[in-house]
Amino acid sequence: MSIIIVSGAAGFLGSHLVRSLIDQGELVVGIDNLSSGLISNLSDIFTHPNFRFIQTDVSDNDSIKTLYQEDVKEIYHLASQASPKFYQSNPFETIQVNTQGTYNLLNLALNKKAKFLFTSTSEAYGDPEVHPQSEDYRGNVNTWGPRACYDEAKRLGEVICYEFYERYGVKVKVARIFNTYSAGLRNDDGRVISNFITQAIKGNDITVYGDGSQTRSFCYVDDNIRALILMMKHEEANGEIINIGNPTEYSVLEVARIIKEKTESESKIVYCPLPKDDPKVRKPDISKAQRILGWAPVVTLEEGLTHTIKNYQSLLLGAHSK
Ligand code: UDP
Repeated sequence: MSIIIVSGAAGFLGSHLVRSLIDQGELVVGIDNLSSGLISNLSDIFTHPNFRFIQTDVSDNDSIKTLYQEDVKEIYHLASQASPKFYQSNPFETIQVNTQGTYNLLNLALNKKAKFLFTSTSEAYGDPEVHPQSEDYRGNVNTWGPRACYDEAKRLGEVICYEFYERYGVKVKVARIFNTYSAGLRNDDGRVISNFITQAIKGNDITVYGDGSQTRSFCYVDDNIRALILMMKHEEANGEIINIGNPTEYSVLEVARIIKEKTESESKIVYCPLPKDDPKVRKPDISKAQRILGWAPVVTLEEGLTHTIKNYQSLLLGAHSK
């Protein structure tokens, strides 16, 4: 039986994707260099007979040479730091994995005639001047700033995908993923949902950056993973960039208030400096995903937060939360 490769398998999205693929009866090889991924994300499936884990860095072509011996049918390339906190501390690694790493795995896909899905990002739109963002909007991205190592590396990763699609006919798909959350996001991840829930549960100040009027649209991880698997399967998604996200938009301050209320927290909401180049708005136009994949998210932020908060409570407070 042929295998599916998932790079970034120990990361937040990767581990959820691996679990879904295994549930569907697939044989999965997960790759991760564990720079931000955690083996604990895979603990329930680590010894599953349909799963194999390789700790290596896909940016180094020699380290993935053994995969050329395998019968590979699909490659999901998720490996990358994705939280601003992590990618800004590892800019060169972030650039490498999204460019050289993408190139290495695309060569493998070409050799194996495997389908290939690259997880790009809503950050490809930068600080958007068009709202909501559809795939044909070309973005407002800054090469000279702290987010560039991620935004521009993902954009170049898309270019490499384009060339393999146009020149060599590799069945390439690019998912531009908008903010995604659930249990499994590291609580030291630095991102807004994980920060606010951790702060609220611990009774620490909830740190809103800027005045909190900037917006994001949050997709629950199950909806996201369903879309990635559909994208891989749909022939019509070949050679396409598709936004994957939840189009319901919230200001960061609204998110702080919702989380404070849902956790019944005594925490204070405090205001901190807004990071440089922080996008002011973000909301996907998902009409292309609806048309090509027949997909739309079904989990509301309220529902998703209920699950997520419960999970963080049992992690952070243990038995006290029950
Ligand atoms: N943010 C915040 N407080 C935090 C963490 C993040 O106000 O403790 C803001 C951040 O400035 C941004 C939004 O929440 O406007 C989303 O940030 P995140 O790092 O989760 O992801 P981004 O969408 O910026 O990549």
